[in-house]
Amino acid sequence: MSKLEDFISKLTDTELAIFIAYRYNGFISSSKQKIKDEASKRGLTTDKLTEIYNKGLSKPTDTKVSFCPRCYPTKLFIETDQELRTIKYYSYEVAVDTMRCRLCGYNPDKRKPKKLFDAIKQKFVNNKTVRIPKKDDRIFKEL
Ligand SMILES: [Zn+2]
Repeated sequence: MSKLEDFISKLTDTELAIFIAYRYNGFISSSKQKIKDEASKRGLTTDKLTEIYNKGLSKPTDTKVSFCPRCYPTKLFIETDQELRTIKYYSYEVAVDTMRCRLCGYNPDKRKPKKLFDAIKQKFVNNKTVRIPKKDDRIFKEL
């Protein structure tokens, strides 16, 4: 079983619909096939996927849990980037950790966090300016 198959097999139907809506087009055709297979294995038709995607996930009520402000899952992961900092004539690299949503790929902040968990609280829980994109069933039609 590939990493992708393993990941999508553990998603709920709603999470799978969100994953497809946001990420499907970014995959190569063999991976797209695996995603299609998972959806058909579960009996998720275009109409069903559209319906459950439009319903979406409910926003977590536990404020201690970090979640994606765009699609509300708690399935986030830490992404580490190397960033170049410069002081006068001297440059050095630092590792910058941010959170990216595993379902929709959203990363609210590619830049700062020194204190990772403060940043999560700030960006993932209290960020109310993020808008959810318009409902769109174009992607599901491909399945
Ligand atoms: Zn998300």
